[in-house]
Amino acid sequence: MPEPRFTIDVIAGDGIGQEVVPAARRCVDAAVAAAAGISLTWRERDWGSDHYRRTGRMMPVDALETMASADAIMLGAVGEPGIPDDVTLWGLLIPIRRTFDQYVNLRPVRLLPGTTSPLRGIDELDLVIVRENVEGEYSSIGGRFDRPGGDTVAVQESLFSRSGTARVARYAARLAASRRGTLVSATKSNGIIHTMPFWDEVVAETVAETAPDVRLRSVLIDALAAELVLHPHASDVIVASNLFGDILSDLAAALAGSIGVAPSASLNPERTHPSLFEPVHGSAPDIAGRGVANPVAQIWSASLMLSHLGLDAPAAALYDAMVATMSAGTLTGDLGGDATTESFTDAVVAEIER
Ligand code: ATP
Ligand code: MG
Repeated sequence: MPEPRFTIDVIAGDGIGQEVVPAARRCVDAAVAAAAGISLTWRERDWGSDHYRRTGRMMPVDALETMASADAIMLGAVGEPGIPDDVTLWGLLIPIRRTFDQYVNLRPVRLLPGTTSPLRGIDELDLVIVRENVEGEYSSIGGRFDRPGGDTVAVQESLFSRSGTARVARYAARLAASRRGTLVSATKSNGIIHTMPFWDEVVAETVAETAPDVRLRSVLIDALAAELVLHPHASDVIVASNLFGDILSDLAAALAGSIGVAPSASLNPERTHPSLFEPVHGSAPDIAGRGVANPVAQIWSASLMLSHLGLDAPAAALYDAMVATMSAGTLTGDLGGDATTESFTDAVVAEIER
């Protein structure tokens, strides 16, 4: 049997991306080497804010074309003070997400050893947010219109397609079936009377078809936000629209203690295009260049990447080594420890090689 081969495009980007991405690469290389018989090639892309200053673009004109042949994309962070957010978003992240039809944004939330939830009395937390990533409330339909009499109105339309809603619901239903068999769908059908009842209907139909044994609970987004804080164990897998998922995933990540440990994956589940794996945190300019950034979010994202590629054994080895390192008390400054990015990574690599 030929050796499975994978090509990973890696965009370390800005700030601490330049520190945590090399750290995660070392861990991936160690996990893949330990598994043996897998060939993995990194293609380094020096895109981001420097590239923008040099050329006026976050990435080259043909970037999407050249990335299409990758099996996955590992991203650190893009963005720097002085460069507007819409340049980083619309110049890199959104084109990648949309061109490669990464319609699922996956955000696992767990309380890892050494982290403390801001919630009192919580010592365990394990849930996954599945956010619709390409349509919904984040659409470009709308604009500003002048009314006779001098007033102005701004209109922002949401767009929910049956196919777009069904496919994210299908992904969430399968994930729920593989876990506790329960799925929570975030809605607001009492106030948003066109799109949200449609979302509810398509989600219910899809779950019934895809995973009839999964128990679906539809919860109003406001009540769900409160429930996550008051009863964080009431949910296991949550499926939500683009906007609701964005808000819930920051809320849930905050419950897990530190932004330095929150991973994310923007998935094209059918694998017809590369998926993207990045930490939830940004470039953290306040600590960049000092070698103290926590690489956990990046390493965990890399583990999600390996499982997406079907490399379950190295994915688990990587995740387990990271958790074991934290359990042993090796923690970076954001978690109250004195490990550096490098010493933490050394410990994870040693754990993998053990
Ligand atoms: P962006 O606009 O790119 O999201 P931001 O400034 O809003 O950037 P982050 O870069 O995520 O947000 O940083 C928020 C805070 O969390 C900062 O104080 C930063 O130092 C801290 N932080 C973020 N990531 C890490 C990490 N991996 N390790 C330690 N601290 C981190
Ligand atoms: Mg930010």
